[in-house]
Amino acid sequence: MKFDILTLFPEMFEPIKQSIIGRATKENKIEINLVNIRDFSKDKHKKVDDTPYGGGAGMLMRADVVYDCYNSVKSSKSKVIYLSPKGNRLNQAKVEELAKEEHLVVLCGHYEGIDQRVIDKIVDEEISIGDYVLTGGELPAMVLVDSVSRYVDGVLAQDSRLEESFSNGLLEYPQYTRPEIFEGMEVPEVLKSGHHKNIDKWRREQSLRVTFEKRPELLEKVDLTEDEQKFIKSLNKDFKKKEEI
Ligand code: SAM
Repeated sequence: MKFDILTLFPEMFEPIKQSIIGRATKENKIEINLVNIRDFSKDKHKKVDDTPYGGGAGMLMRADVVYDCYNSVKSSKSKVIYLSPKGNRLNQAKVEELAKEEHLVVLCGHYEGIDQRVIDKIVDEEISIGDYVLTGGELPAMVLVDSVSRYVDGVLAQDSRLEESFSNGLLEYPQYTRPEIFEGMEVPEVLKSGHHKNIDKWRREQSLRVTFEKRPELLEKVDLTEDEQKFIKSLNKDFKKKEEI
């Protein structure tokens, strides 16, 4: 998977050069290429923005500069993503879908955004990381690259993705490590039993419980066995009892 990130601030991308994503880059599991949009300005002062037609606050990135930058990286396989608060909300399904692409061109806006004409001309999809406005697309681009890269084969050493939050429609069960007793709190006995069937059952129930408590709407989309449905009903009863007290 190759990411070409088009940005006015390539120096902001230090965080994705570290840890798991940094290692995946070094091992050529993914390629991250930072392209400075400013290098494509023909202006002698390297200006990349201008005032909006019709007036209004702030500056807009120029269509011609962004277009020239895009043309320097485009390929027959590229999918162009523009990070934008107006886009489709990034979620697990979208992350897994994007991980199947070979070449993502990730366009970061800045200032008041980008001239609409170049967005209409080159962008395949606009993606938002949430209903709030950031100063630029660089942080959202890092969120996108990090989340998508985890689904590229070989990036994670162990396949921990299978039981993670959202992967099976539920939130993950609680996890524990050493010390065995911390501030008087013990690790649940079942996890020390070595009995894998009981551990799996306990984890599944905890996963259902956590999802019920924190994101009950997720349960509507999950196929539950009869026993699991009964378990959720029992949680519901306990919940109602607590409400009555
Ligand atoms: N004027 C734009 C609007 O009201 O929709 C906001 C522009 S914002 C200040 C500058 C840039 O930050 C955008 O072009 C976009 O690339 C990025 N950005 C801001 N919030 C974002 C979000 N929630 N998700 C993705 N990108 C975002």
